Amino acid sequence: MAEKRPDRTLGRHHDTFWEFCGQGELRLQKCESCDHLHWPVVQKCENCGERDFAWDRMSGRGKVMSWTSFERDYYRGLLPVPYDTILVELEEGPLFMSNPQGFGWQELSPDMPVKLTFVAAEDTAGEFSLPVFERET
Ligand SMILES: [Zn+2]
Repeated sequence: MAEKRPDRTLGRHHDTFWEFCGQGELRLQKCESCDHLHWPVVQKCENCGERDFAWDRMSGRGKVMSWTSFERDYYRGLLPVPYDTILVELEEGPLFMSNPQGFGWQELSPDMPVKLTFVAAEDTAGEFSLPVFERET
């Protein structure tokens, strides 16, 4: 069963990102002019202003840089509290905010290796695949 989630940002490049997630791929925008990798989604390159992007597939490997556990109900019961959020440094460099899958903050340590997986999620726009991270075994 799909987990209820707050609404995603949709439209243009955001839709492309979610379409790749639906295929089980984490892809980030790579500027076709200067090769800068972007996350979160941008409409033009932060480095050179170019508006054309390729979508580079990430390896799915990374390490935990930071984390927090939310105990306040910011989403009016949509996300049961407490829930954990992790900041992952992807192998390719970008920092990616996500959720730990199958483990909690008590088990986290700096530089802990993690790997990408997807969970079935749902917002008011419909079902989608949400990128999350599990322990690298
Ligand atoms: Zn650029």
